[in-house]
Amino acid sequence: MNILTMLWKNLWGGSRTMLFPARPEVSERYRGLVRFDPALCTGCAICKMRCTSRAIEFKTGKGEFYWSYDPGQCTFCGRCVEGCKSHALSQDEECPPVYTTIGELKNSYTVARKPPAPKPAAAVPPAVAGPTANPATGGAQ
Ligand code: SF4
Ligand code: SF4
Repeated sequence: MNILTMLWKNLWGGSRTMLFPARPEVSERYRGLVRFDPALCTGCAICKMRCTSRAIEFKTGKGEFYWSYDPGQCTFCGRCVEGCKSHALSQDEECPPVYTTIGELKNSYTVARKPPAPKPAAAVPPAVAGPTANPATGGAQ
């Protein structure tokens, strides 16, 4: 295509952009917004380590921890969800969010640390039979 044809097409080809709030269709490969269930979270911070986009923040405090997620920084890759063995994270089908200010969509939670599970009771060793008295000598055998 020569430059004149290209210019002609661009001049008369109509708009290539959409006016807000119209949005293009979501890609089939979009994995969705991350959802967090504080009741299931153990505070292991694996999700933060797996998130290379720094969309997840994690800080520990005394008896609690702080977890936050910013969809504005998220690439919706799903690595955090795959790494969460407690199933505290999931992704839903909702459209990618629209935002105008950085941090505007951030969700933060302060979660109390759960007490550690009680240790299982120690197994009692079987009783060892002691020496028996010899009735003939009166002593132990
Ligand atoms: S959301 Fe999952 S991976 Fe992240 S801190 Fe909680 S339990 Fe760990
Ligand atoms: S989906 Fe990907 S980018 Fe988004 S918070 Fe999880 S690991 Fe980070």
